Amino acid sequence: MSDSIAEQIANIRASIPPSVRLVAVTKTVSADAIRVAYAAGVRDFGENRVQEAEAKQEQLRDLTDITWHLIGHVQSNKAARAIANFDWIHSVDSLKLAKRLDRLAREQSRSPHVCFQVKILPDPNKYGWTVPELMADLPKLDACTALKIQGLMTIPPQGLDETETRSVFEATRELADRIRSQNWDHIQMRELSMGMSADYLLAVEAGATLIRPGQSIFGKRKI
Ligand SMILES: *Cc1c(COP(=O)(O)O)cnc(C)c1O
Repeated sequence: MSDSIAEQIANIRASIPPSVRLVAVTKTVSADAIRVAYAAGVRDFGENRVQEAEAKQEQLRDLTDITWHLIGHVQSNKAARAIANFDWIHSVDSLKLAKRLDRLAREQSRSPHVCFQVKILPDPNKYGWTVPELMADLPKLDACTALKIQGLMTIPPQGLDETETRSVFEATRELADRIRSQNWDHIQMRELSMGMSADYLLAVEAGATLIRPGQSIFGKRKI
């Protein structure tokens, strides 16, 4: 196991520019496997459930320089713990959630890095803003000053071919460019969180700054 995790990490690193941040997605992965990835140099880890992450964070307290990224939908009743236990939240997917996180961050004197999750194509299975919805909410999002708004996150719908996937990533980059050109006081658009095991190379070509592979590092998930 150790050899292959380290090897897969080396393979991914060799295939992307050094400026792209590798967030190793560890949902369903054990704390021991996370230690192996840490030993191979990974410092950014992504989890999609607050509770599952907390259990592993507890077991990994000694690794003090890990940056924890939340990449899954945040339920309202988990928002306070999301703020307490994560440095990054990629999956801010509504104005309501953003406002709640902003308030909680202020209360906890925290200032998490966040991305807005967008749906470039319609996808009933995913959370996130459509493009017109996001554009309409920007003035209110710009007022969420306890959040360090860094950019956009996207997950293409299942079943797209390579060309379609590429165009989703490119449209996400263009959307970030468009928002950046509006010169908001507070919203920054410097990061693009996009690309999982199957499509991170396409995402990087389209301008991803954070990629989120899981299975290509840790092996196929059973669930
Ligand atoms: C599970 C997950 C990933 C990683 O997917 P893999 O297929 O394991 O690479 C990335 N991003 C999000 C939001 C996920 O839920």
